[in-house]
Amino acid sequence: MQTSALFEALSEFAATRAWRYIYPVWSRRAQGISIGINLHPNHCCNWRCVYCQVPGLQRGPSPVIDSQLLQQELTDCLGWLTHHIHDTIYSLHDCVQDIAFAGDGEPTTSPQFADILDMVANLMQQRKPHDRPACLRLITNGSQLQHAHIQHALKRLHEMGGEVWFKLDAGNDGEMLAVNDTHLPLALHLQRLQTCCTLCPTWVQTAIFSRSLHGETVTTPTLPGYMEALLPLKQRISGILLYGIARPSQQDLRGCIQATSEKILEKYASTLRTQGFRVRMFV
Ligand code: SF4
Repeated sequence: MQTSALFEALSEFAATRAWRYIYPVWSRRAQGISIGINLHPNHCCNWRCVYCQVPGLQRGPSPVIDSQLLQQELTDCLGWLTHHIHDTIYSLHDCVQDIAFAGDGEPTTSPQFADILDMVANLMQQRKPHDRPACLRLITNGSQLQHAHIQHALKRLHEMGGEVWFKLDAGNDGEMLAVNDTHLPLALHLQRLQTCCTLCPTWVQTAIFSRSLHGETVTTPTLPGYMEALLPLKQRISGILLYGIARPSQQDLRGCIQATSEKILEKYASTLRTQGFRVRMFV
């Protein structure tokens, strides 16, 4: 069975199960099947990124997670995959790129994040290496990295061979506010990025798009500020994931943001590569 056909069959199965926390997706950034863990089925996040694709996004608290149900759903999903891959020459490790903490809000704001990460890590350790997804991943806006319990959880992620994708969409404080709707200063965000890199392999992930500003169209993040922010961290980060806006934002009701052309993304990628960064690009 081709991986894309496997994904379609898995999506149909998931629809019949109506899982609350587990959602399989075809990830263009992970380049294959990704099993997402959503700790915010209430669609609450502490940021409000202008390009966010979560419908009905609100600011608000993290919900209480039924961790037993989450474990059951993940076991169900992995069990289905194991069964359907069994007769092929492939292993689950070949077919599933990751289990990713992502979802409809910032995973690390959940008070249960560390415990659930631990539970997932234990579940993975009980399986043979070829019978686990290729990677355990945290996709984060990085806003909770100052907390000791999150730092501890990231060490555990590192022990599991996992990695972090850390959001950085800005080259100055104004862009942090305009793009992520946070008053967090860029300098503090970069300190958290640096902390993250000391705990677990970390990729920076950046959305590049155009927006209207005072009657002009500008591309965000502005390259000089973004580059200046990242240069001191060049040896610490694993690389940069640059991606365009593939699906319409659910927050930008006035259509102020637009996808950038592949040419512009390529310009960002090549400028960063010239400076010695490892860059992957997703149009
Ligand atoms: S951090 Fe993620 S979930 Fe939160 S608003 Fe931004 S894109 Fe949406």
